[in-house]
Order: sequence, then C-alpha cells, then structure tokens
Amino acid sequence: MKNIKRIAVKVGSSTLTHENGKINIKNVDHLSKVLSDVLNMGIEVVLVSSGAIAAGFSRLGLSEKPKELRIKQASAAVGQGALLYMYEKFFSEYGHSVAQILLNKKDVENEHRSENLTNTFNTLLEYGIVPIVNENDSVAVDEILIGDNDNLSATVATLIKADLLILFTDIDGLYDSDPHKNANAKLISEVRDIDSVMHLAGDATSNRGTGGMVTKLEAAKHCMDNGINMVIANGSDPDVIYSILKGERIGTLFIADRE
Ligand code: GLU
Repeated sequence: MKNIKRIAVKVGSSTLTHENGKINIKNVDHLSKVLSDVLNMGIEVVLVSSGAIAAGFSRLGLSEKPKELRIKQASAAVGQGALLYMYEKFFSEYGHSVAQILLNKKDVENEHRSENLTNTFNTLLEYGIVPIVNENDSVAVDEILIGDNDNLSATVATLIKADLLILFTDIDGLYDSDPHKNANAKLISEVRDIDSVMHLAGDATSNRGTGGMVTKLEAAKHCMDNGINMVIANGSDPDVIYSILKGERIGTLFIADRE
C-alpha cells in the first residue's frame, strides 16, 4: 500500500440513500469529508458513485425502486442531479471541486473514445478536481449498458491507472460463505488467486443496488488482470480509508500480481 498517489473509490446506492429513496445526507457528507482529506494528503481521487436511480424514484413520488426501464431512466435523470448537488455542496464545504462524468460501454470500449475519456480524467485530476462517475443511466439501453458500477469502477480504475480501487459495500468484505445465512461465515482478508474464490459470489443483492458479490468479484478480476489492487470494505464508515491507506488490513484485499 506504499506510494499510493491515485485511488478510485466506488460507493453503492444502499450507502448513499435510505431505503425510502431519500439521500442519506450523513453518509454523503462523511464520504465527501474523508475524500477531501485524502486529497489534502496529496492523493488523487476518482469517485464512482451509484445512487442515481435510488435517489430519484422518491422524487417521482414512488415508494420503491422502479422496474420499468423508462421509469428507471427518468429516476436516474432526477436522482443524478440531486446527488451531484449534494456532492458539490459537501466537497466545496471542505475546499474541493467536483466534476460529473457519465458514461456507457461505448465510451470505454472504443479505443479512440476511451483515450479521449482518459485524457479528460487526467486533466481533471491535474487540476485537483474530483471526477464523480456514473453510468449514463438515462440514455443507456441494453446494447450500450455496462449495467453495474462495480464493473464500471474497475474499468475506470484501469483507464486512470489507479494504484488502488476501494469498493464500498454494505458488508465487511468477501466471506467464505453467505454471512446472512451462516453465523459462522468468516471474512477472507486477502485474495491472490481470484479464480479460487469466484464460487463464493452467491447472489445476494440489496433492494437498492444492482451488484452483489458477483459483480464485485468480476471487478476484482478485471483489476487484478490489469495490475491494480482492490479492496472490498464496508462503506458505513468511510474513515476506514485512512486505515486502508496506512496498509492496515480492512475488509478483503485483492492483491494483483504486478510482475
Ligand atoms: N448506475 C446506477 C445508479 O446510479 C447504479 C448501478 C449499480 O448500483 O451498480 O442508480
């Protein structure tokens, strides 16, 4: 964990919103504060933030996350703005500025477009701005959909050559069996061989996010294949970033073979 100069952090809908679809102000504030401090430590930060659909549906008067595509897309359009407004407010309170980057598969698959995107990221980081990334959910259709922000964050971490990707979620990391079903499930603190843990993914998802462990392990594989370390940690207390940066063992660390 030495010499970390650039990190990507992914935070999920269930951390950023309450179950009723309102923004979890305490969590957004706390995350913005810690990341601002990380910037003050001289480390560049890219934030991949979910939560657009989750923060939008209550503003459409709905009581739960919609299933129909057009309503999801409308929710995302409303929620994305609401979230960015909160990030802008909190980051600026702590002395920093944010930028919004919304993208789809085509932007990262096409060589010319992804090169252009990488230049945009690098330029923002050079200027000390925090790029806040999400999928462009309001215009995404199947053919151009990445679909989940775990995979999106691994792609972004690879494009910007991050030293570390931190995936925040609502459990402490990867367990050797489903902790919701088995009280004796043990947290796995370190993974070097991703293929040996893929079967532990299960199918657990929260009602607001889309990912679960499957996409987190896909993200880990993507990162490790590209020489990037990744941590899965509990996002309920973003202060753990300080410990992670100090090299303390928090959550599950996926160690890439960098040779
Ligand atoms: N892009 C989606 C949103 O902002 C979330 C995708 C995910 O949870 O992985 O609502």
